[in-house]
Amino acid sequence: MLTHFSGVLTAAQIKQHIGHTFDLPTGISSLSIHFTYSPGHVAGGINMLTLTVLDPNGFRGAGHRHAPDINGRATHHVDIGVATATPGYIPGPLPAGTWTIQIDTHSVLSDAPVTYTIDITGNNDSAMNGAGVPAHALMPKPIASAKQRSGWYRGDLHAHTTHSDATWDVAAFAAFMRARGLDFATLSDHNTVSGLAEWDQLTSPDFLTIGAVELTTFYGHCLALGTRQWVDWRVQPGGRRMSDIAAEVAASGALFAIAHPTAVGDPICTGCNWVYPDMQPGSSRGVEIWNSFWESESNNDDAVQRWYAWLNQGCRMVATSGTDAHGPFTEEAELGFDVVYAERLTEDAILQAIRQGHLYISAGPALELTGVGASGATAMMGDSLPRETAQLTATWENCAGDDRLVVIGNGRTVVEVAAAGVKGSLKWSFDVGQARWCTVELRDCRNHLRAITNPMFIGW
Ligand SMILES: [Zn+2]
Ligand SMILES: [Zn+2]
Repeated sequence: MLTHFSGVLTAAQIKQHIGHTFDLPTGISSLSIHFTYSPGHVAGGINMLTLTVLDPNGFRGAGHRHAPDINGRATHHVDIGVATATPGYIPGPLPAGTWTIQIDTHSVLSDAPVTYTIDITGNNDSAMNGAGVPAHALMPKPIASAKQRSGWYRGDLHAHTTHSDATWDVAAFAAFMRARGLDFATLSDHNTVSGLAEWDQLTSPDFLTIGAVELTTFYGHCLALGTRQWVDWRVQPGGRRMSDIAAEVAASGALFAIAHPTAVGDPICTGCNWVYPDMQPGSSRGVEIWNSFWESESNNDDAVQRWYAWLNQGCRMVATSGTDAHGPFTEEAELGFDVVYAERLTEDAILQAIRQGHLYISAGPALELTGVGASGATAMMGDSLPRETAQLTATWENCAGDDRLVVIGNGRTVVEVAAAGVKGSLKWSFDVGQARWCTVELRDCRNHLRAITNPMFIGW
């Protein structure tokens, strides 16, 4: 055995990063980390402790998942080798030097102290020494798709695999998203990018793989869309703030979006509710308003209203959706998808179109919003019209018999009409100063959203 750690945690140590460092000698070709703690379950819920591993050069993996009970103790077992690693962790040569095993204390409930042990062993298979791809090699983005024409592309912007806490592997996840008929999908595992190398191998001319990570922090979740690199999600009291992390994501070229901002929080969904005071919405220009199926614990209607309030505060934000899939959906859930007007089917073009707000979210119907100003200026959703009287048009297809089309201006209903039929349209005029932004919603008889556009801005 290389080394052993043990300790005791109480509720005072909730939402902390507790590092344990050790020196790895040269000549080690694989590492086993055996982490156990008890109790895993208490009356008030679960104690959720996960691991992050850092080698002398940086991130080496994370296992954001519940620890199964083995011999009466919650247990995470991690193997990292030259050619293979436990999902969530990154294989490759093991550099000598200081390694850190970090316990992330997502939840420590007050019922009883938590005792833990970490046993670390190393093996030396000399044949493997120095072999393999370095774990920190830059991963290239997938090849450009054969679809080089502008048009509407359908996709998903949030999902997980066994590289964090989902039940399906990368191949099964890809098969599900392809079967939905999507043009693109995004793998955004919790706090790791270890699945993206395999994910990107599945890109093809008719199916684009987008890389991402879901920063699963103690006080809210957010997406870094378009990244292939780990993003350090550790907010430190008195140090790194969420606004600093958002700036780092933006500087890297990835798109930062707040995920499920109004989801239920602790202890039901630990850290799922977005509460960062410096990011309401701060510099964020993306927010996921449709997470999972419409009536999920993400409180999607509240997320739409939060987005509308931010728009009314003058924050020009783009709304997105994501299934947040963790495995096959068991019921006939009406899942939303993003419909993006992009120049071509590549990751850069899709993300650029999302930044511009050139997308709507739908569970089936097609929905478009266009506008013409008195001066002849034209715009689509996401664009601005000059501050002048404008004619706006909403068109829809494939609505159900009792769907309603609701025009929203500055967060309030402007007009509402039945949207029955295979196809239809509505024109209305906006006077100067009537509203600064306008969206169109399609809602069913239960008032569930079936589609929603990004805003058209007027004089903004
Ligand atoms: Zn989340
Ligand atoms: Zn998620």
